[in-house]
Amino acid sequence: MRNQADSALHDAVLNARGAGFTWSEVAADLGLVTSDEGTPRAVRAFEWVVSDHATDRVYWTCHACGDTVADSGPYDANPANCEYGHGWGCARVVDDLERYWEELVEAGLD
Ligand SMILES: [Zn+2]
Repeated sequence: MRNQADSALHDAVLNARGAGFTWSEVAADLGLVTSDEGTPRAVRAFEWVVSDHATDRVYWTCHACGDTVADSGPYDANPANCEYGHGWGCARVVDDLERYWEELVEAGLD
């Protein structure tokens, strides 16, 4: 069971995700680093938040489109495979997909 401080922090993390912060950025704010076993800080942040849930997803409200988004965590580089429920034409989705495609082009994987 979470105490009140953990619950408030949990809510703040979900609000930050809704505002557009990445799991890696959230992890940095939480002071998390890659574990000694090699678990990335972004995964550690997601696993901390999801630890009290009976599923492998968390839900937050997207500040760009106002819809509830199901977030399956930072396990796939393609944001379209991680976040479900954005409104049609959500500006955040467009920005995230453009950034993802730019990364693929830079890596020569397009
Ligand atoms: Zn959205």
